[in-house]
Amino acid sequence: MKLQNLHTHTSFCDGKNSIAQIVQSAIDLGMSSIGLSGHAALPFPCSWAMKAEDVPLYYTEARRQQALFAGKIPVYVGIEQDYYSPTPAYPYEYIIGGVHYVKKNDRNYSMDHSAQALMDAAKESYGGDLYGLAEDYYATVAKVADKTGCQIVAHFDLICKHNQDDCLFDTNHPRYRTAALDALDALCGKDLIFEINTGAMSRGVRTTPYPDKKLLLAMRQRNLPICICADSHSANTLLYAFREAAELARSCGYKECMYWDGKHFYPDQLPF
Ligand SMILES: [Zn+2]
Ligand SMILES: [Zn+2]
Repeated sequence: MKLQNLHTHTSFCDGKNSIAQIVQSAIDLGMSSIGLSGHAALPFPCSWAMKAEDVPLYYTEARRQQALFAGKIPVYVGIEQDYYSPTPAYPYEYIIGGVHYVKKNDRNYSMDHSAQALMDAAKESYGGDLYGLAEDYYATVAKVADKTGCQIVAHFDLICKHNQDDCLFDTNHPRYRTAALDALDALCGKDLIFEINTGAMSRGVRTTPYPDKKLLLAMRQRNLPICICADSHSANTLLYAFREAAELARSCGYKECMYWDGKHFYPDQLPF
């Protein structure tokens, strides 16, 4: 059984541990390989992304640890690009692309900070209409691959991080469904992998992964490949809820997920 997580944050951004500690933990957990994906810098104030001046240090240290651990475990050097991050300056092995902000009226509204922040954004710029905010979010997601050059689309429905059990808005609402499926259709045919992301689970915000089952079924119907990612911010969450994520994938008809071998993505059996 392959156990790979390509979505890992370290102390270079908002993770708790050093790269060396993360890689050692991956070995201790019996993982097949580990991928690093620091948050790329952003051109506006942000508490969780790398500072622009730290990006060269991240890349250099990641490559150094990759060489140090060679023969013990494959370490892959990636990056998580936000839609608004500048073009990467280094030859990362893979790019995870995500939308964490919606820009409206010269404001950058966070999609994952808190339920209150989402409601405040809707109130301030959408007349209280959370569906209007969701429409702008998914219109941005629709362009995330063209903008970031990603191979993996991160947390497709991040706007639902604080919407477990539809506590803020209804994910069956026609406007929400149309916006989400339009974004999915716009990303079809671009050779992308969609992650099942357990990051909000390990941080105690959700009890289920992104995307929700309805969207994962829509991905399956479109034959879109998936990978399982922990979006880990700590050495002890590198495989958090992978079993549940694999079960969710199977319940939607998936038998395989994608893995990175350092040169290519390839399909193989789901873990567990
Ligand atoms: Zn993210
Ligand atoms: Zn992340």
